[in-house]
Amino acid sequence: MTAGPDFFDAGALVGVLTAQPLDRVLDYRAPEGGCHVGAFVEVPLGPRKVLGAVMGPGEGGYDLAKVRSVIRVLDVAPMAPEMRTFLQKAGDYTLTPMSAMLRLATRAPGLGDPPSMRKVYRLGYSEPSRLTEARQRVLDVLEGQADQAFTLKELSDEAGVTSSVVKGLVKQGAVDEVDMPRDTPYRRLDPGHAAKELTEDQCACAAALDTAIRAGGYGTTLLRGVTGSGKTEVYLEAVASTLRAGRQALVLLPEIALTAEFLTRVQARFGAKPAEWHSGVTMTERRRCWRMVGEGGAQLVVGARSALFLPFRDLGLIVVDEEHDSSYKQEDGVLYNARDMAVLRASICGAQVVLASATPSLETWVNAEAGKYTRLDLGARFGAAVMPELRAIDMRGEDLPGNRWISPTMQAAVAQRIERGEQSLLFINRRGYAPVTICRACGHQVGCDHCDARMVEHRFQKRLICHQCGGTKPMPEKCPACEVEGKMAPVGPGVERLGEEAAALFPEARVATLSSDMFASARALKEQIRAIAAGEADIIIGTQLVAKGHNFPLLTLVGVIDADLGLQGSDLRAAERTFQLMRQVAGRAGRAEKPGTAMLQTFQPEHPVIRAILTGDEEGFWRAEAEERRHAGVPPFGRMAGIILSSPDMQEAFDVGTHLARTDAPLRQIGAQVFGPAPAPIARVRGRHRVRLLVKAPKGAALQPALAQWIGALKLPNSLRLSVDIDPQSF
Ligand code: ADP
Ligand code: ZN
Repeated sequence: MTAGPDFFDAGALVGVLTAQPLDRVLDYRAPEGGCHVGAFVEVPLGPRKVLGAVMGPGEGGYDLAKVRSVIRVLDVAPMAPEMRTFLQKAGDYTLTPMSAMLRLATRAPGLGDPPSMRKVYRLGYSEPSRLTEARQRVLDVLEGQADQAFTLKELSDEAGVTSSVVKGLVKQGAVDEVDMPRDTPYRRLDPGHAAKELTEDQCACAAALDTAIRAGGYGTTLLRGVTGSGKTEVYLEAVASTLRAGRQALVLLPEIALTAEFLTRVQARFGAKPAEWHSGVTMTERRRCWRMVGEGGAQLVVGARSALFLPFRDLGLIVVDEEHDSSYKQEDGVLYNARDMAVLRASICGAQVVLASATPSLETWVNAEAGKYTRLDLGARFGAAVMPELRAIDMRGEDLPGNRWISPTMQAAVAQRIERGEQSLLFINRRGYAPVTICRACGHQVGCDHCDARMVEHRFQKRLICHQCGGTKPMPEKCPACEVEGKMAPVGPGVERLGEEAAALFPEARVATLSSDMFASARALKEQIRAIAAGEADIIIGTQLVAKGHNFPLLTLVGVIDADLGLQGSDLRAAERTFQLMRQVAGRAGRAEKPGTAMLQTFQPEHPVIRAILTGDEEGFWRAEAEERRHAGVPPFGRMAGIILSSPDMQEAFDVGTHLARTDAPLRQIGAQVFGPAPAPIARVRGRHRVRLLVKAPKGAALQPALAQWIGALKLPNSLRLSVDIDPQSF
């Protein structure tokens, strides 16, 4: 081995960053055989062995005899310089220590362990005695892709047979079963496998992206188009361009429930399934994905936001599908917005970003207007499908008895769809049976014991559930306050109650309720979605879950039960969110040849947001919204950060908050203002009281260094936790 600036000989001092909550790099001696900069290593820390990464030469300057040695270098690709820059900058932006960033970047179990083995299947030498059609399909698959190793599941899926067919062939020697290390490369995707013929619009967008990808280097593109216009088709072509250029691609989806459908589409387009990365993936698969991404054995990863921290060897494209979706904001631990981090990562590694949406976030719209992002528009829907007709139902004129929410006008529209053999979707963005449970004798409302939230009745699960902490209680027989029996009653509609009402109004109809917590597993949910798509329901009752990406070809009516729901409250993003959600839900109607209608039940049909939804004047809506934000000096026209202080003791959190607000000199220096302390949007979670300060700074201000100086001066009591939320979702 030779010494160089990137290599340390055995015994040389190296600085190692560990994923432990220590805010500094520790010195060790390079192990026998030396190590590269970026190498992942195992080092002793006190009595333990921990994972670390070699960041550079050690600092020295103390008793060198005490420096311990690196135990071993892990058998994984070292961290690329780009990855390190990315972690550093992402950490600086979110005010997160590097150790926590390293933790994000190494979230794969058993990284250093030798790989375990698994069985894979290849073509054998013998002929099977009896060649059934199913057996022939298995042999065809293996013959067609002789260079590939298939797992039992991959092979039987691909051939469309049960695993016993494969096992039968193994017994006869027609297929070989061999042991291979688990961390094997993913099957190769073929960019030319089954390209669709694109429409003129789609073609123009795909060509623009192809040019950018071939040119190499960084760029961000907003790909805008109504639901069903073919955004996915277009960005799959961008993935193809990236694969042809020999680089890797990452597609981020906002919801795990959408992955299965997407994987099937990728398989149809590229002939094989890509790597997957999200919380539903097994530990061994996670580890395989992490390693293969680093070694180049994974060409495409489909995943949740944390996939951004995978160690790609040569990332050339990041797609953020439904880029406006609020689930891209991580609200726990390191607070980051995956959309912004995607742009950061791409700008460092010279990749293209595609932000796809029917209703882009205001931030992205403004960046496109300002020319920072390229904008590509897909005009019409693919094929004969047209945007649904949008109509308001003025609830002030509807004759509706108490505890009923489906207006006579809506009822008539649904009845008509049933007659025609078409589907209707009734949308309400509230999980559970009823949002409030109240005692009719004393007015007491059942609240969560640990949070500042009401308990929501879930009749399906026969429990009260807190939507903040997930805590549950049985439905009380008698009022916890006045102890009168049999008086606890639901108030207001949730998705389950709406389902009940629909079933009562249409006793002959098949009603399917689609709410995330009604399914024990992702598989059950997937099955329900498939059944609906196949026409096995007349009325679908759904929450936000159905607003996202599913394809229901028979659906021609979308009824929004409470279009005003999101407009209440003082949240400045409320208008944007309502606009996006309503347009998105409405877009579910009429995707195939049948034209669709969307009806919005509202008590304020003249509200500017409702009007903008109905007229579909998106540009007008964005312009007005942007003007309002500019006027208020809030993002994206100013900078904001939230400081959340939490403690079991409310007074303590407030006291520290007040102290912070008084010592705001570093902030005043950059022209920033502090508001609060005030109870946080979620004021109590899991028994901890939460207090928030909001910091507002001018657009060009160096906010993070000032924040670091400001909170750095604070000595925190042990019971208190502080987290910084740059660009908070609500303000
Ligand atoms: P979006 O992502 O904008 O919602 P999709 O890409 O999912 O739109 O397209 C909507 C539907 O139309 C999908 O079923 C897709 O396969 C089909 N589609 C879109 N463009 C084409 C095309 N050029 N050729 C064939 N089918 C297409
Ligand atoms: Zn709770």
